[in-house]
Amino acid sequence: MNLKKIKIPLHWQILGGMIAGLIWGIIAVNSGYGQFTSDYLKPFGTIFVNLLKMIAIPMIITSLIVGISSLSDIKKLSRIGGKSIGIFLLTTVMAISIGVAMVNIFKPGEGIPEETKQQLMAAYADKAGSSTEKAADFKERPPLQTLIDLFPENLISAATDNKNMLQIVLVVILAGIALILVPADKTEPVKKLFEGLNEIILKMVDIIMYMAPIGVFGLMSAVITEVAGDDPAKAISILSALGRYGLVLIVALILHMLLVYIPIVKFVAKLNPITFLKKMRPVQLLAFSTSSSNATLPLNIENSTERMGLSKDVAGFTLPLGATVNMDGTSMYQAVAAVFIAQVFNMDLTFSDQLIIIVTATLASIGSAGVPGAGMIMLVIVLNAVHVPAEGIALILGPDRILDMCRTVVNVTGDAAVTAAVARGEYAIDEEVFNG
Ligand code: ASP
Repeated sequence: MNLKKIKIPLHWQILGGMIAGLIWGIIAVNSGYGQFTSDYLKPFGTIFVNLLKMIAIPMIITSLIVGISSLSDIKKLSRIGGKSIGIFLLTTVMAISIGVAMVNIFKPGEGIPEETKQQLMAAYADKAGSSTEKAADFKERPPLQTLIDLFPENLISAATDNKNMLQIVLVVILAGIALILVPADKTEPVKKLFEGLNEIILKMVDIIMYMAPIGVFGLMSAVITEVAGDDPAKAISILSALGRYGLVLIVALILHMLLVYIPIVKFVAKLNPITFLKKMRPVQLLAFSTSSSNATLPLNIENSTERMGLSKDVAGFTLPLGATVNMDGTSMYQAVAAVFIAQVFNMDLTFSDQLIIIVTATLASIGSAGVPGAGMIMLVIVLNAVHVPAEGIALILGPDRILDMCRTVVNVTGDAAVTAAVARGEYAIDEEVFNG
């Protein structure tokens, strides 16, 4: 038997790392290895996530330039942009509506005993305060600041911060358009250069992914020890008090995948949804373990173009855009959490309050960055809009990291499903690669 030929598929490698991390995390919590885990194991997770984030901007630049430069007309670009933003908005509103319906039907906030409520408020008051402050900074900005922020004044400094992903997308689109307009004989070497660079970057992603099992192991074991803290018994009692809230959110997230993404893939992208979900597995597992759409972006781009056969001009545009603005899981979470907190405080939300939640959660999810915990900071804005006390965030902080992992899976799946839908309209799917 030739051992070299046995290659474990990426999703099994990631899953293996997750399960091992989970088991170690439980052992560490019970035998006092929490500090050891955060000092000596978590760093491997951090290195892995850093490498992924590091490759995100070069990957966006090269794949988008290669994609756009292969287009013959600019109209196609604005069509792709218009369609993706339209579908992104639609899926976000659907996600929030499913969430709001579920939390109103099952009312997870109504059974929480007063004593538990007080304990949660006391335990997490500090952390909730810091989220409220961060959200306040965001709210004080002038109305069009978000639009202004899309246009960098300096390319180099824009490319040095992952938060500026959209700025880079815009600059690259501008460069791509110029590339199309300049006569081909002058641009040929540049195109070749970017094609070469793009191949190198794809290979770098492959190399980084060799580290996935150990990276994911570090991340998972640290999540378990951090959630459990110094007092695992208390953590378990908090998690079970909030069990119904978590369950309602997780079921709503699954429903969104089944009721929205599967039909989009089947009827709009006209692809087999089972194959789509199978091919999404490594991306979803990575999103789950990193809790970050940004860190998952390089693998999502590689997976969509190389394994699903979606073209680079579409995927190179919609995926970075989606990682920043399309967060269905996050928007649903913000709506469910807002209604849940109102229920715990015995506040009645009127129908128009619920509509305000739909609008503000859409905007707040667009404003959330693709990093762990970002959605919770922007939740403050949704709470303020319906006059629910922002301190109520303390109620849901306990299980937030775990729910963040789940909503990030939905966020990245939504980006890929919309990419497939847009690609179908542009005749930009290589079915042989998709089914291969
Ligand atoms: N962690 C999420 C993401 O990266 C954002 C959030 O909901 O906090 O997509």
